Amino acid sequence: MIAGSTGANMPTEKNYLRRRLQMVDEQLMARGINDRRVLDVMRYLPRHEFVGEEYKPYAYDDTPLPTQEGQTISQPYMVAFMSERLRLKPDHKVLEIGTGSGYQTAILCELTNYVYSVERYSRLADAAGERLSQLEYDNVDIHVGDGSQGLPDMALYDRIMVTAAVPKIPGVLCSQLRVIGGRMILPVGDHEQQELKLITRRGDRFSSRTLLKVRFVPMIGRYGFETGTGDDPLVF
Ligand code: SAH
Repeated sequence: MIAGSTGANMPTEKNYLRRRLQMVDEQLMARGINDRRVLDVMRYLPRHEFVGEEYKPYAYDDTPLPTQEGQTISQPYMVAFMSERLRLKPDHKVLEIGTGSGYQTAILCELTNYVYSVERYSRLADAAGERLSQLEYDNVDIHVGDGSQGLPDMALYDRIMVTAAVPKIPGVLCSQLRVIGGRMILPVGDHEQQELKLITRRGDRFSSRTLLKVRFVPMIGRYGFETGTGDDPLVF
């Protein structure tokens, strides 16, 4: 902590860069993330631009941070882990559910051809859209709405990333995956704890693997919590 006049403890750009490189070494590489493209983009992308002024000094800490509307920006390791496990390719079309701060969205924009992202709060969607255009991303389309139903108009997607927890795997999302080799990653469980699952599609066959125990904010919506109707047939 630097003592002195007001604002003296706000890190400089150079300090942010130093912390960011340290984050990649100590939080990502040390824990086994080794996808070069994911590591490179996380070395480059200014996470501090995606959090409120009061959280900037903590932007490269090993933790999720609060954003507006009581939501969170995911922990850097979780962002890296999910991005790596999706095996993103430059020609992929991706659907992200839960835009939030737009940090994960920016990473998807760097690693793939086009990203559709859905957020239920228009205030978050607008702020994320503004940030992403300031950072000159033009391969993204942010929609305001209930992402638990996916975005059927633009389907199919090579990859789907869900960053809010669902009580069970929404079949409607599975059906929006590319028929051969489509992949989706999502947290499934209750409010307290979930399992991060990786779904792979091969025609009408879907396989599911559990990767990690995680804790995400709940998805609110038709196939999420609270307003869920529970009438969505499971695909498997
Ligand atoms: N990837 C984001 C994480 C945001 S937290 C980031 O790193 O910043 C999860 C987000 O999902 C929240 O912004 C929340 O508002 C959003 N969300 C919750 N239910 C949703 C729904 N049904 N449709 C779309 N977004 C939803």
